[in-house]
Amino acid sequence: MFRFFHVPRSRRCIAAALFVLAGLGAQPAAGLELPRARSVPGGVALVELGPALAAPQASLDGVPVLVTGRPGGWVAVVGIPLDASPGALTLEVRGEGAPLRRVEVAVAPVRYAEQRLKVAPGKVDLSAEDLARHERERLRSAEVIATWSAREPATLRMLQPVPGRRSGSFGLRRVFNDQPRKPHSGMDIAAPTGTPVVAAAAGRVIDTGDYFFNGNTVWLDHGNGVLSMYCHLSAIDVQPGDELAAGARIGAVGATGRVTGPHLHWSVMLNRTMVDPALFLADGSGAP
Ligand code: ZN
Repeated sequence: MFRFFHVPRSRRCIAAALFVLAGLGAQPAAGLELPRARSVPGGVALVELGPALAAPQASLDGVPVLVTGRPGGWVAVVGIPLDASPGALTLEVRGEGAPLRRVEVAVAPVRYAEQRLKVAPGKVDLSAEDLARHERERLRSAEVIATWSAREPATLRMLQPVPGRRSGSFGLRRVFNDQPRKPHSGMDIAAPTGTPVVAAAAGRVIDTGDYFFNGNTVWLDHGNGVLSMYCHLSAIDVQPGDELAAGARIGAVGATGRVTGPHLHWSVMLNRTMVDPALFLADGSGAP
């Protein structure tokens, strides 16, 4: 240490540069374990941003986007909205001391199937009271969905939160009692009421509640805009603020909210956008 200060100035600079390079070399060969890419509405695009000493910042329509990797090459993990038109989205990228860049993200067309369901009439034609309740819940959900915590997720490879048959129903255009409603923005997994539901990845509980459509619901924040949501639960075993390991129990399968039978509805969000959870599972089955 003492000797270091006696090195001539020019050699000190070289020593400092070598130290930085050594630091870079010590980083893992890749950043996070990434989801599978599927650049369609409701899918995930993996966009190479190139090398830089510090991670650049990326945003889509003003919403921050997860960037991971290392100085040798950064990757934006972009959630593509289900209602995006095929063509191209524009990612805005800001690097430290670099001008704003616009990066085009190609979005291929996809055609999701239609699904017709019969539910209690009051869950489709809402009473004035239920409409007011739903509106309050919508505002609360919007707040939850806007969560951005600075920590990087531990992984983007997730566990299936409950064993059972995956419906592969993400994106289905849904018709309830002959009335078209919003497309299905998650994965349904059929399982008996009471089956334990676990956290798909490590994260913090940011909301729990009983929602009109989603029933008993738990939201987890995995960091950098990666959220997951678990709906229709018969029991909730966690509370906001709890830090959970991947695989920790959060509740049990149920049939609360707008359902035709007991199952888990599981959603995964990137940049405030619900994307196909199957892309985050190791074998990817359940994808359309
Ligand atoms: Zn569902």
